[in-house]
Amino acid sequence: MHLHTTASDGTLSPAETVEAAIRAGLTGIGITDHDTVAGVAEAKASAAGRIRVVPGVEINTEAQVDEEWREVHVLGYLVDVASPALQDELQRLRVARLERARRIVDKLATLNLAVSFARVREIAGGGPLGRPHIAQAMVEAGLAGSVLQAFQLYLGLGKPAYVERYKLSPEDAVRLIHAAGGVAVLAHPGLIGDDAIIAPLVAVGLDGLEARYPEHGRREAKRYAALARRHGLVVTGGSDAHGPGFPGRATIGAVRVPDKVIEELAVRRPAEAAVRT
Ligand SMILES: [Zn+2]
Ligand SMILES: [Zn+2]
Repeated sequence: MHLHTTASDGTLSPAETVEAAIRAGLTGIGITDHDTVAGVAEAKASAAGRIRVVPGVEINTEAQVDEEWREVHVLGYLVDVASPALQDELQRLRVARLERARRIVDKLATLNLAVSFARVREIAGGGPLGRPHIAQAMVEAGLAGSVLQAFQLYLGLGKPAYVERYKLSPEDAVRLIHAAGGVAVLAHPGLIGDDAIIAPLVAVGLDGLEARYPEHGRREAKRYAALARRHGLVVTGGSDAHGPGFPGRATIGAVRVPDKVIEELAVRRPAEAAVRT
């Protein structure tokens, strides 16, 4: 239910992802690339009915929790991949991220801290380009002792190479996913670091919580499953696999959820809800 392909920063093409999932014995997969649905069509075509492919996306948003900006990832499932509203916003996010990174690299150059933009993109590997990649390029070029130091001296808020970003709120991501006919699931809540993020999302119609996740311990997974049930949300899970050779990530099939999860999500699709009422 949570797979990345070469459409973003995964190492397997959508077709290769399908084959790997079949080999792993899965009956269905969710293709959830960062800020793009570009891999879905290829996955569906190569699956050719051998495995169910759930069209999805993982939207990177930012939310302020306790005066600190945190990255919040919202998964959209069963979205209409041709939705103009979805396509436009995802495009805006990708372009804004690229432009911001370029402006930061330009600022660094004026500070006599030149890093190669091509190298920064290479480090990001097709994923959402961000300051951590620039920081890593600075460390490689000997311009900072560590990623943390690069942030503290140059890239952090208020530092000389800081550039304001285009922010999408998680609430807006939920609305966008619904507008595209899909259902919205909060990805890996344990990595966000503050459960206060959840209630406002439930208020705007969040549909599910990714309770089962490789980096959630057993207790954490249980806690999120209970939290999901308390809020009337679907309990989902996913491996967040990025393919072989991607450091620190689980493999396809490492986290499995029952087929019925798809049905539980499907009945929450806004279009179907409208038909029922
Ligand atoms: Zn994520
Ligand atoms: Zn992911």
